[in-house]
Amino acid sequence: MDRFEVLIVGAGPAGSFAAEQLARAGVRVGLFDGRLPGEPKACGGGVTSKALKAWPHLLEAVGRTIDELDMYSPSGKHLHLKLDEPFAVYSRIAFDTFLRERARKAGATVLAEKVSARACKQTGDGWIVRTQTDAEFSGKHLLAADGANSAIAKKLAGPLPPAEMEVAFGYRAPLPEVGDAATVVAFLPNWVGYAWAFPRIDHVSFGIATTQDAFDHESLDKLLWDFMVSYYEVAQVGNLHPRMDLWKRDKSQINNLRYHNLRYTAERYAARIPGLSPRTWDTRKACGEGWALLGDAAGFADPVTGEGIYYALRSAELFAQAYLAGEPLAYEQSWRKDFGAELRRASQMRRRFYGNFWGAPFTDRMIKFARGHRGIRKVLGQLVAGDQGYTDLKKKLARSALKPI
Ligand SMILES: Cc1cc2nc3c(=O)[nH]c(=O)nc-3n(C[C@H](O)[C@H](O)[C@H](O)COP(=O)(O)OP(=O)(O)OC[C@H]3O[C@@H](n4cnc5c(N)ncnc54)[C@H](O)[C@@H]3O)c2cc1C
Repeated sequence: MDRFEVLIVGAGPAGSFAAEQLARAGVRVGLFDGRLPGEPKACGGGVTSKALKAWPHLLEAVGRTIDELDMYSPSGKHLHLKLDEPFAVYSRIAFDTFLRERARKAGATVLAEKVSARACKQTGDGWIVRTQTDAEFSGKHLLAADGANSAIAKKLAGPLPPAEMEVAFGYRAPLPEVGDAATVVAFLPNWVGYAWAFPRIDHVSFGIATTQDAFDHESLDKLLWDFMVSYYEVAQVGNLHPRMDLWKRDKSQINNLRYHNLRYTAERYAARIPGLSPRTWDTRKACGEGWALLGDAAGFADPVTGEGIYYALRSAELFAQAYLAGEPLAYEQSWRKDFGAELRRASQMRRRFYGNFWGAPFTDRMIKFARGHRGIRKVLGQLVAGDQGYTDLKKKLARSALKPI
């Protein structure tokens, strides 16, 4: 049986980044991932400028840097944002491979094996994990970095209530043949959440992120197709960004060649994103004697936007710091202090963010005001960059609105 000091289940951003830092400091790390080669993790692949500033080496991964963003409100109001701080969009195969290779180069042993959560056993001096090929490995510490459906986290910290999962689905589709591939975020009419179009090097990732409790696949899929067809139409007419009705499409208009080609080429994907309630933020532990949870396995995603890559990387970094300082249990305080309070605040804000404000959706008001006000545009840009938290968002928006234009 191979013996490691730390066993990490899952080589997504969280697992690979933790493995890299621990291995670089001389820890003997076994990093397991059961994903089939060439199968991407379902994800928009957007990485905020806050993450790019914290870990500039991420820019070495093959991706696309985005410095302009088109936002649409639920009623179709359009805002073109020039971002002071660009963000990046990656194919998850490229991004995950880049991080995993860094872990391997730092000295981690990377094993293409799926770990059976049921067969994980805590022993007197650590853990024994068994993979699906019946190989056994032991280690002193066990890290669950196996994503939103983490079976290891369920075993270590208990299951999450089903309502505390968001749903995201979408399509990988070709880049527009003519015109610019714009980066778009459009808040949904009458639903919590938003649709996105994130152009990558060789395709566009389209998707919708929304809550699980009101999920109605047929209606949301139709909304997404309307959005996708509009996207290609906007690309064709260039930078004019006519005031398009993104959502209420005439069926006869959709029934055209482009729509059929798209139906034929688009590849569908779907997955869940954790969206913890304030109560769960308060009560669920992310570590205990000999174990810790990282990234999505711990529930670390923004309940308003579904953004999780930054928190996957940051939780890995905070755990590695605590572990290398000889105090792995200090991770609990450090993640809470670093980003826990902010994400808890986001979960309280979600209803209001997607709710009404003075008789219209808050997102509609926000985009309307931002169109006419440089200060509000700036705050919105900072929100997209990941630099504007939710704790003082309302105060900042109100303060900006009161300043002269
Ligand atoms: C549709 C969609 C769009 C999203 N868009 C964005 C976005 O644009 N920006 C953003 O920041 N976040 C986005 N997110 C969230 C983001 O994908 C996650 O927060 C992020 O991937 C979490 O990283 P992680 O390393 O914790 O988990 P993951 O990336 O899920 O990695 C977990 C790894 O564990 C492996 N694994 C699972 N079980 C086992 C097992 N038993 N044994 C071995 N290996 C196992 C999996 O194969 C996987 O490689 C999106 C999520 C979805 C679903």
